[in-house]
Amino acid sequence: MSLPGAAPGGSLLRAAAPAPGRGLRSWTALALCAAVIVGELLWFLLDLPRRALVSDAAATVVAGIAAAYCLRVARRHPSALRTFWRLLAVTMALAAAGRAIWTVARLTGDGLPHTPLIATIFIAGICAGTGALLSFLSAPDSAIGRTRILLDGVIVALALVPISWLIALRDVTGSSLADPLRSLALVYPMLDLVQLTVLVAISSGSRVRWPALSLIGASLAVRALADTVYVSLNVRDDYVAGHLIDVCWPLSYLLIAVATRYPAPVRLDDADDNVERLLAARWRTAVPYLLVGGSIVATLVARQVAGSSPAIVFWSSLGLLAALAIRQRLVARENRQLAARMRGLAHQDPLTGLPNRLAFNRELQRHVRHRRPVTVLLLDLDGFKQVNDRFGHATGDQLLTAVAERMRHALDGEGVLARVGGDEFAVLVDGVREHDPELIARRLLAALGPAGPDDDIAGHCTASIGIAAYGPQHSGQADLLRDADIAMYAAKEAGKSAYRVCTPALRRQAVSRAELIADLRRALAEGGQLELAYQPIVAVGTGAMSGAEALVRWRHPRHGLLGPDRFLPLAEEIGLIVAVDRWVLREACRAAAGWQELAPGLTVAVNISPANLRRPGLAADVAEVVRDTGLAPAALTLELTETALIDGTETVLERLRQLRATGVRIAIDDFGTGYSSLSYLHRIPATELKIDQSFVARLGGADPQAYATVAMVSKLAAAFDLVVVAEGVETEEQHRAVAEIGCPHGQGYRYGRPATLAQLRSSLRTAQASA
Ligand code: C2E
Ligand code: CA
Ligand code: CA
Repeated sequence: MSLPGAAPGGSLLRAAAPAPGRGLRSWTALALCAAVIVGELLWFLLDLPRRALVSDAAATVVAGIAAAYCLRVARRHPSALRTFWRLLAVTMALAAAGRAIWTVARLTGDGLPHTPLIATIFIAGICAGTGALLSFLSAPDSAIGRTRILLDGVIVALALVPISWLIALRDVTGSSLADPLRSLALVYPMLDLVQLTVLVAISSGSRVRWPALSLIGASLAVRALADTVYVSLNVRDDYVAGHLIDVCWPLSYLLIAVATRYPAPVRLDDADDNVERLLAARWRTAVPYLLVGGSIVATLVARQVAGSSPAIVFWSSLGLLAALAIRQRLVARENRQLAARMRGLAHQDPLTGLPNRLAFNRELQRHVRHRRPVTVLLLDLDGFKQVNDRFGHATGDQLLTAVAERMRHALDGEGVLARVGGDEFAVLVDGVREHDPELIARRLLAALGPAGPDDDIAGHCTASIGIAAYGPQHSGQADLLRDADIAMYAAKEAGKSAYRVCTPALRRQAVSRAELIADLRRALAEGGQLELAYQPIVAVGTGAMSGAEALVRWRHPRHGLLGPDRFLPLAEEIGLIVAVDRWVLREACRAAAGWQELAPGLTVAVNISPANLRRPGLAADVAEVVRDTGLAPAALTLELTETALIDGTETVLERLRQLRATGVRIAIDDFGTGYSSLSYLHRIPATELKIDQSFVARLGGADPQAYATVAMVSKLAAAFDLVVVAEGVETEEQHRAVAEIGCPHGQGYRYGRPATLAQLRSSLRTAQASA
């Protein structure tokens, strides 16, 4: 994303690999330019006639060709670079035009034609070149920043005036400086300096050099040298057209033409680096001051030498002071803007561009402090964690941005949307404006719903929304947020894609929920409150017990005996489920090891939660418990729900193979509820399959479809070598149906209810006695 105010210009550059040569034509023109320059040089060295004309022709031709090159590359390069090249083309074209006009004027008049038109054309050319640099990618994005850089150039140029006066101009007669057009030529080297300073500034702004920029720098340096020598010769009337220094101008144009041969730099958008770069650029603040120091010394010396301050030194010093003052103000403003941007960063979520938790809390605080009516909507994405786990963080980020955008759209300005956590959003609705928070919640939920047939965002994400309105019952904003949280959990419990408003009843319930969590922690830490019930699994044909399933219960000190549905979801949510499973496993194995003498080979079935299945250490734990309790591994069956098994992929299969390797059995629990494909079933290394109660419940009545389903699943399971258990057999009819279908095993109230270990042992003893 891009920061507010961080425009494309604030980017770092990386030079791309050189482009392959683009045919002969592009290089022939360059070779021609080089030949022209070499020819000119030879012409001068050999002192052939008509040097002035040769010099003019060479400069005009090379500048014209360079202009064509710049235009051509402007069309090819990305749009961000187009202005840059176009302005350079203008520079080159103006150089060619100026020189051509100069040639005509020189040939028709007498002496050097220092006319206003020619001066204007040359100066316009230099200005266009400076503009090109200021439009470059690594130049500051703000007008202030660009002006500051330009001022740096002016300061450098002005500061050098007293110094150059001392070095070069001191002994020039007043009369030659009095000719206004001739002294206008002094402007060229000064403008060259401005441009060079701008170039240095923008190229120190990019981390990696773009060779083309270095070439342009070299071109500027050559031109500055030529201009300086020209001016110093000219003021002494020592310059004649066709001087050796003339070679420098076409050379500087050639360098620009060569620069067009480099491929466009690749832009790197990196917001953090951007700020860093801005900070690092501060050192440049110091450079002009060094020059100004030098300038002051030179001015004082000049005074000493000339008796009084020469006019040119005086005015340039005055200009320098003004430029420095303006620059100072600009820097101060830039700093303020930078600080504001940093503050913005602290209050903004970089991914979605939404206000972050800090900003949200501040806004809420403002309302609460002024007792303004306000409602908070807390929104949690339901499936986000799975998306992140399965498809990676990049996809997760994409989803978050898309979701944020949709919600922002749905909100339509009726509230302040913020991202307050990983997959948590919040909306602040100003109560004064009378927007209906429930309506907003419905709109938000609808926005996350499928937008079309191939909408893959909605397929992965639903949300739960909790709503709380600020009222007298709240002591502060933390109170209000807690209520929104309570409502949000209630919405989650109500199923996906729901919202709830916090009510007093909900609040009371939440308090007991919090207590229950604390109680459960204590129960697990102190022990003695969890119990196991054992439900027989029997052979349908004979009614003989073949195993027992261990089912956990919690004997709560105040609430009495709680079933697994009352506390297992809670344990799962707060990460205690693994501890519960571990306790159950050990307890069940110990019991089963104990009943082997009464019923050798009688298995015990233990339920394993999905969270436990994801744990890499599960197989090792199971092996250890089996060893410790002395139970034969084959007498232990681990029950895993079908949903848990199809949820994972290769990792789950690997874990199952590890478990099988320890010798324990594996049952696919609640089969028929998870819609697993039959081919997948084949890959699961299970030994048993438990047909879910919901199918068995429909047996015995007039539901031929249920009958057919159970019959088909039993056949299929048998084909896969899976032992079938029909769960929830309650009635005589169901038992008969199961027997008829040929299900080998059954479990349910018809055969026996979950019972205590003592009860189970006593019925085993009875069975042993009667056998
Ligand atoms: P489940 O694994 O499908 O366990 C069978 C559930 O069906 C038990 O409920 C059992 O009491 C009940 N049931 C058995 N026969 C009949 C019948 O004929 N009719 C009806 N209507 N119900 C019958 P329970 O004990 O309430 O357990 C509920 C679920 O809690 C279990 O379903 C299992 O998924 C989970 N669970 C129980 N104990 C544990 C445990 O120690 N660890 C884990 N992770 N989950 C457990
Ligand atoms: Ca089970
Ligand atoms: Ca089951």
